[in-house]
Amino acid sequence: MKYDYLIVGAGLFGATFAWRARQAGKTCLVIDRREHTGGNTYCEQVEGINVHRYGAHIFHTNNEEIWRFVNSLVPFNRYTNSPVANYQGKLYNLPFNMNTFYQMWGVKTPAEAAAKIEEQRAEARQLLQQQGVAEPRNLEEQALLLIGRDIYEKLIKGYTEKQWGRACTELPAFIIRRLPVRFVFDNNYFNDCFQGIPEGGYNVLINKLLEGCEVRLGVDYLENREAWNEQANQIVYTGEIDRYFDYRLGHLEWRTVRFETETMPTSNYQGNAVVNYTEREIPYTRIIEHKHFESFGADVDKNPKTVISREYSTEWHLGMEPYYPVNDEKNDKLYKQYVELANAEKNVLFGGRLAEYKYYDMAPTMERAFAIKID
Ligand SMILES: Cc1cc2nc3c(=O)[nH]c(=O)nc-3n(C[C@H](O)[C@H](O)[C@H](O)COP(=O)(O)OP(=O)(O)OC[C@H]3O[C@@H](n4cnc5c(N)ncnc54)[C@H](O)[C@@H]3O)c2cc1C
Repeated sequence: MKYDYLIVGAGLFGATFAWRARQAGKTCLVIDRREHTGGNTYCEQVEGINVHRYGAHIFHTNNEEIWRFVNSLVPFNRYTNSPVANYQGKLYNLPFNMNTFYQMWGVKTPAEAAAKIEEQRAEARQLLQQQGVAEPRNLEEQALLLIGRDIYEKLIKGYTEKQWGRACTELPAFIIRRLPVRFVFDNNYFNDCFQGIPEGGYNVLINKLLEGCEVRLGVDYLENREAWNEQANQIVYTGEIDRYFDYRLGHLEWRTVRFETETMPTSNYQGNAVVNYTEREIPYTRIIEHKHFESFGADVDKNPKTVISREYSTEWHLGMEPYYPVNDEKNDKLYKQYVELANAEKNVLFGGRLAEYKYYDMAPTMERAFAIKID
């Protein structure tokens, strides 16, 4: 065998595994069916701006070891995710915090905000009691009980319906278990200790992780698997698990996102990286303005152009990009059956979001790649 490992997929999981294998003195061949490395973290340069081609990626973690590790490869900038919601032309800060409550009701103190929310929650409880309903029967009822009518109708309803392609009254209540609210003026979306974007974009990080590996792009492992298998002692497969087995038990389902990316002849289109459109009538869920991930303050105007992406949450069909697994009972059961087949495969390790049929943020993806024993 020419290599110790054949790594199928040059995404974050495959690249992190490759880095570790190289550190252990192993040789790696990394292949990807796309024409670039990085998987979904890949950034494309447009007008000198790193455009997140497969959706906005913000690195965030509480794991100090992972944070130190990624920063040892490339310094991360000070980007702090603080999305804004646009509902019928009026702007609200996210996540729900004192700024949001002030914009919604004009309340100025935590006590006033808490009282307003409680008043609206009590209305929702009373309404369900009148209908003889003990437990919320759908997402709408659940959200009304948790947060009240104003925030639900303006900031949750339309956005959620676009995301899932279904009315909130038809979605199960368990999708929203909690709706965190903060009674402080703090628009930082994540609760994690560390967040940022690699300076120069994610490609720099991926290139560092893949240093010393042989990489071949534009090749699909499954189209020639016997020949690839002859190249290495061990395979690390990070593609879709059902596709690996030729869908012999059936298809796993996903949700996908369609991106409409446009260069705008202005230095600053919306003044923020992420603006959510929370009304149902606007067909996209968010507009991402990519330059704000990496330029701050007066630097924003140095580039007279900007690039935006409108995101449309879309039903998935075979052949489309699989983005979000639909982890309902039916799909999870099917996935477990595929895992049984995978366990019987000799010399193949299945890992990453596609093979594990699970949504992982970037840091947990790396944690999982770090957890694998390398002999
Ligand atoms: C829209 C969206 C937004 C996200 N935003 C964030 C965020 O803000 N913060 C965050 O932490 N995480 C975010 N994530 C999650 C992040 O993208 C994942 O954690 C990460 O991409 C997982 O890496 P991976 O290597 O498992 O998968 P991928 O990045 O999908 O890489 C898998 C690779 O395998 C290749 N491949 C598959 N099958 C084959 C085959 N048969 N032959 C050859 N190559 C193959 C694919 O082409 C792909 O390049 C987001 C995800 C999505 C979908």
